[in-house]
Amino acid sequence: MCGIVGYIGKRQAAPVLLDGLSKLEYRGYDSAGLAIYDGSAINIQKSTGRLKVLSELTHDGSTMPGTVGIGHTRWATHGEPNDTNAHPHFNEARSIAVVHNGIIENYIKLKKKLVDRGYRFVSDTDTEIVAHLLDYYCKKTQGEVIETITEVMHRVEGSYALGILFADCPDKVYALRKDSPLIVGKSADGNLIASDVP
Ligand code: GLU
Repeated sequence: MCGIVGYIGKRQAAPVLLDGLSKLEYRGYDSAGLAIYDGSAINIQKSTGRLKVLSELTHDGSTMPGTVGIGHTRWATHGEPNDTNAHPHFNEARSIAVVHNGIIENYIKLKKKLVDRGYRFVSDTDTEIVAHLLDYYCKKTQGEVIETITEVMHRVEGSYALGILFADCPDKVYALRKDSPLIVGKSADGNLIASDVP
């Protein structure tokens, strides 16, 4: 088990996400990461080991400004626990960032198709397929995000909770789930997604 937190609102996202991830530590994990939209681009920081390492790396989130973001604690199922395999994962243009809990069972078949189309993968995870597949359908649908996500959902098999940032739609955090937990929380100063209530 492992965790996802996403935030969009009035507060700085990185400290909220780090705090949220710390409340999901009980679920177990081997690495952690954040993706934050800073007003012009999505920045990612990730590290193997305890969440404390990520907190130190980002000075408790202060080096990652922005009010929109997603965070992840990983329990590796595909690809060893290391910094490259830690989430979030990007598409090549770094305009789409993805965190995932669960397993994409048909990722090898999908990966082969994308590699044949010129997509380059950097990690050994099943998750990275989602970032590239979103990129592929985003181009096909000319940036229609819901249509893009629907196309991808129809193609991936397995269990997933996903948090997604699109640099071209920076006022939203997208979330979807199938057979993996993910809840939505709303408050006056921001909205959240999370793997569990704490
Ligand atoms: N299957 C994905 C991976 O190995 C996600 C694991 C998780 O649920 O944290 O990267």
